Amino acid sequence: MAEKIQENSVSAEAEQVEIRDTDISFDCPNCGKQLVIDYRGAGLEIECSFCGSHVLVPIPDGMQLADLDLDPGEILKQLFATRRNYQKAELEIQALRTRLVQLQETLSVMQDAIAEGLGEH
Ligand SMILES: [Zn+2]
Repeated sequence: MAEKIQENSVSAEAEQVEIRDTDISFDCPNCGKQLVIDYRGAGLEIECSFCGSHVLVPIPDGMQLADLDLDPGEILKQLFATRRNYQKAELEIQALRTRLVQLQETLSVMQDAIAEGLGEH
C-alpha cells in the first residue's frame, strides 16, 4: 500500500493543527507544550511557538541526520518502517507484560501453597 505524500504546503491553516505521519511531535523542554514539526526539521533549532525559547528538534529513532540528504521518498519509507517496528515492539511489550502478570499470579499461588504446607506441620 503506497502512502500518499501530502503536499508540503506551509501551514497557513495553523489553527487546526493536523499531525501528519511524517511530522515529528515532541514536548518543548522549556514550557512542556507539544510542538509539531515537519520531519525535515529534525536536528534543527527552532523557536518554540509557545514560550519562544530555542529548542532542538529531536531526530526520530532510527533516523540519521544524514538521511535528510536522501530524497524525501526514501526518508518516508524509512520513517514508516521505523513506525512499524515501533508498533511491533509495543505489541511485544504488551505480550510480555501479560506474561509477567501470569507468572506473578502463579508465583503467588505457589507461595500460598508453600505457606499452607508449612502451616500444616
Ligand atoms: Zn516552549
